[in-house]
Amino acid sequence: MSFDVERIRKDFPILQVGTGPPLAYLDTAASAQKPQPVVDALGDFYTRHYANIHRGVYELSADATARYEAARDKVRAFLGAAEAREIVFVRGTTEAINLVAACYGRTHIGTGDEVLITALEHHANLVPWQQLCIERGAKLRVAPVDDAAHLDIEAFEALLGPRTRLVAATHVSNAVGTRVPVRELIRLAHARGIPVLLDGAQAAPRFPVNVLELEVDFYAFSGHKLYGPSGIGALYGRAELLDAMPPYQTGGGMIERVRFEETTFAAVPERFEAGTPNIAGAVGLGVACDYLSSIGMEAVERHEAALLAHAERLLGEIPELRVIGTAAAKTGVLSFVLDGVHPHDVGTVLDGSGVAVRAGHHCAQPLMERLGVPATVRASLGIYNNFDDLERLADAIRRCLKLFA
Ligand code: PLP
Repeated sequence: MSFDVERIRKDFPILQVGTGPPLAYLDTAASAQKPQPVVDALGDFYTRHYANIHRGVYELSADATARYEAARDKVRAFLGAAEAREIVFVRGTTEAINLVAACYGRTHIGTGDEVLITALEHHANLVPWQQLCIERGAKLRVAPVDDAAHLDIEAFEALLGPRTRLVAATHVSNAVGTRVPVRELIRLAHARGIPVLLDGAQAAPRFPVNVLELEVDFYAFSGHKLYGPSGIGALYGRAELLDAMPPYQTGGGMIERVRFEETTFAAVPERFEAGTPNIAGAVGLGVACDYLSSIGMEAVERHEAALLAHAERLLGEIPELRVIGTAAAKTGVLSFVLDGVHPHDVGTVLDGSGVAVRAGHHCAQPLMERLGVPATVRASLGIYNNFDDLERLADAIRRCLKLFA
């Protein structure tokens, strides 16, 4: 199916509203806008199908349960996992990583052990491991990047040692767009029997991901970045690993049998889904997966690559602009700074032209420090962006430079 961005734009109600120029939304890495099918699915679920799941004996509850479980299977198919029970619904990437740190980390990581991350991590894939290491008397090791924000693979390999118990790496950097060579990371880690968690928050919405082909052990992503609802996301874990993990939170919905003296726990994935989950969110996420699959993730990837190349050309014509993060393999995340203008001021001026970008450290303070900038302006691309959005970005940057000249 050919990719028709103007047709796709019509699916996004937020791009249709307003009387002024349309919104040039360039903050998809923070959160994606929602297509009409996702918006409709939430309304329809609350209007016609809502009930609590799993424990109801009446038809409405059985129907809601079936829709929730069907959504799990859609996520399974989207990630190419073998079994639906390998998909745990969580609030998002942050919760998925915290779950693995709490359940896998506390079981397998002890005094003197090591967790290896990269210098590209979002705080969500850094702070949980740092805190776990402090708690367990373990050591956090960090594979460095070069000035262009490529991961140093040789240094990564050298940091894999006899005490490394887990590698946790991002698939794509949210701050500078580097696409990490994760197959190589996984190959090197697995050759030493070390499991790998990938933070897929920025990768899953941008190109095809297949966890079986990757042979990755854990994979985390957020629904709201994948054109789905907020407050829902998924953790993929290999069944063998999830089966051996203790619960995350305890309470209703995750038990097999409860006595005052002891409790036995449900099988996965229920074991990790204590309490009433975000039922409508899961259904909406399933629809977001369907929506992207109907476009085709290969087509999404090609569209983004074309946008990125055009954006790099346009921004390359502005001498006062310096791109931060110039890795050879990049996705649609463009971080930059302007001579003499603070990134926050750039963001505010661009907003005045209807161009929405993000300015700041992008929850990657150690990476910013390594690259020698306190903050950047970040324009990030999504399936609804067109060349016009990018031209408006370049024009607004020129206006900003004039304003601060
Ligand atoms: N990891 C990466 C690479 C991200 O970009 C983000 C969000 O910006 C997260 C993790 C955290 O995701 P969430 O806030 O949805 O839990």
